[in-house]
Amino acid sequence: MASKEYSLSNAANLRPFLELDQKGAIMAEYVWIDGELGIRSKTRTLPYKEGGYTPDDLPTWNFDGSSTGQAPNEDSDVYLKPVAVFPDPFMLGDNILILTECWNNNGMPNKYNHRDECRKLMELHAAQKPWFGLEQEYTLLDLTERPYGWPTNGYPAPQGPYYCGVGAGKVVQRDIVLAHYKACMYAGIKISGINAEVMPAQWEFQVGPCDGIEMGDHLWMARYLLHRIAEVFGAKVSFAPKPIPGDWNGAGLHSNFSTEDMRKEGGMKYIEEAIHKLEARHKEHIAVYGEGNDARLTGRHETGSIDQFSYGVANRAASIRIPREVAAKGCGYIEDRRPASNADPYLITGIIMETCFGALPE
Ligand code: ADP
Ligand code: MN
Ligand code: MN
Ligand code: MN
Ligand code: MN
Repeated sequence: MASKEYSLSNAANLRPFLELDQKGAIMAEYVWIDGELGIRSKTRTLPYKEGGYTPDDLPTWNFDGSSTGQAPNEDSDVYLKPVAVFPDPFMLGDNILILTECWNNNGMPNKYNHRDECRKLMELHAAQKPWFGLEQEYTLLDLTERPYGWPTNGYPAPQGPYYCGVGAGKVVQRDIVLAHYKACMYAGIKISGINAEVMPAQWEFQVGPCDGIEMGDHLWMARYLLHRIAEVFGAKVSFAPKPIPGDWNGAGLHSNFSTEDMRKEGGMKYIEEAIHKLEARHKEHIAVYGEGNDARLTGRHETGSIDQFSYGVANRAASIRIPREVAAKGCGYIEDRRPASNADPYLITGIIMETCFGALPE
């Protein structure tokens, strides 16, 4: 499985076939989050529809949940409920990617469907007009799971030249990063930028600002596109929060957040209120901010300590950073630096709303 021949795709050979007439039919790729925060998808044929599909016109589908750790053998059908539609940057034309929620046969959300509760929290607090912007850090690995550009034995030179680096020996696989950027734009994802990160082979893309539930939807679809693009290049994407132990930066999912009150003149009052509420529920947040985050939130490598909440202006060693320009203007947004790269954006944005504005009624 680790051999290159086995895994390299032949996207260039596929290219001429993309122009073939589909005779009034489209490919609809149903995408879902599996039992380990991984992503799965499968495709079906649907008739072409004038003006395109919205989630409401798309059929519910299902899959074998016993094959993905999402359901027992005896009751294995899990339903795929369409929630967002994107143009397909791989198949082009009228073909679409559909983000779906997983539902059980008994009418309950599947165990790993964190979107349903997030959506309810966003609806309950819609008057706040919440915006989110997430910074997704990740590491590109070869098929033997070694970060690209790292020597087979030993380590690269210490961190310093790699962050926003330019030139051979400083960054690797920029083609993957740029292909992903383009694919996100084509699909209508609100991608707002990319940069090379502090650890060699680590990159970041940002999505946002997004309104409420759109944040999780766009980030999950951007993750899906990244896996698909990397597949073409024969690369693996790691969202591990501390891919290499030692003096190497971990990978986070910094979560920028604001409400209408925070964005307006005098917003600092609301920013401070939110920070105090976040402080009181530090443990509850850490519990949903990603697996293995303890190895990352050490108080070193631009992180705050996992045990202790802190905040500060322009402080990259704090749990919450108030950007310098926000402090200067007296309004804007805050950056929650605690979430790990592998966290579920629905859990992050959901708990922020719950903590700042109240839980769903029982
Ligand atoms: P950093 O300086 O921490 O690396 P980035 O430029 O990578 O910051 O990311 C900043 C993020 O903040 C972007 O995703 C952007 O969409 C988001 N953002 C900007 N303004 C707001 C706002 N008012 N509310 C929420 N998010 C915001
Ligand atoms: Mn079958
Ligand atoms: Mn950033
Ligand atoms: Mn970063
Ligand atoms: Mn950041």
